[in-house]
Amino acid sequence: MPELPEVETVRRGLAPVLEGARIATAEVRRPDLRWPFPERMAERLTGARVDRLRRRSKYILADLDSGETLIVHLGMSGRMLITGDGAAGMPGAFAHDHGQIGKHDHVVLTTEAGARITFNDARRFGAMDLVETDRADAHWLLAGLGPEPLGNAFNEGYLAEKFAGKRTPVKSALLDQRIVAGLGNIYVCEALWRSGISPLRHAGRISKPRIGRLVPAIRDVLSEAIDAGGSSLRDYRQADGDLGYFQHRFAVYGREGEPCQTPGCTGKIRRKVQSGRSSFYCATCQR
Ligand SMILES: [Zn+2]
Repeated sequence: MPELPEVETVRRGLAPVLEGARIATAEVRRPDLRWPFPERMAERLTGARVDRLRRRSKYILADLDSGETLIVHLGMSGRMLITGDGAAGMPGAFAHDHGQIGKHDHVVLTTEAGARITFNDARRFGAMDLVETDRADAHWLLAGLGPEPLGNAFNEGYLAEKFAGKRTPVKSALLDQRIVAGLGNIYVCEALWRSGISPLRHAGRISKPRIGRLVPAIRDVLSEAIDAGGSSLRDYRQADGDLGYFQHRFAVYGREGEPCQTPGCTGKIRRKVQSGRSSFYCATCQR
């Protein structure tokens, strides 16, 4: 399941192909994904120029010169593929053949420059919607979201205020999208390990100095993963045009039973299911 760094990598991969590009053709090959597509989606996209490609939480937003914004969510299995020419600015430009349109290729956009962007989603938990750009932030998918974890509004003071008096485990609090937007299971596990905080600890019982360590740990795990995604984009020449899924090593996630990597710690990584999600942590150095 794509998390924030994967979504940001997809955005960065698409930007050189889509920003400033005009959509020559838009093909919408089924009526819905997780929800129905907006009415006349293909017509509304055709002829529009993409002015800006931005990200909010795990959503990619394409602001169009038509005054509308295309909101894209990759869901569980959504992928973006770029084929064809017109990928100027992209290292090792995409000199691939377009190939056949596959069964799970649900939306296919072609730019005037000749790039084809294919949204492929086998499990169909992805979503797309079109909304007036001025009202995009108020869209029901985005309206309730907390601040971006990499933005200035997410800081020690803010998090301390949100955690105050909270009796839920810090793991659940950090996965609460109203508190901070776009954080998922993997990166929360990693950030808690780095800051020495147990995922089981109640959010309201973490001291301010420890919250002060947690915030940069969250930023660092996300930034490092985004950097890894950037490297995967630079290696794109040998790839098949598929954006956003890259190999990244985690210190605790998926490492049950392995020795903890904290210097001097002799603990082993444990796994515990919290609210249906696996938490990986070291009970020795995470308190
Ligand atoms: Zn440890």
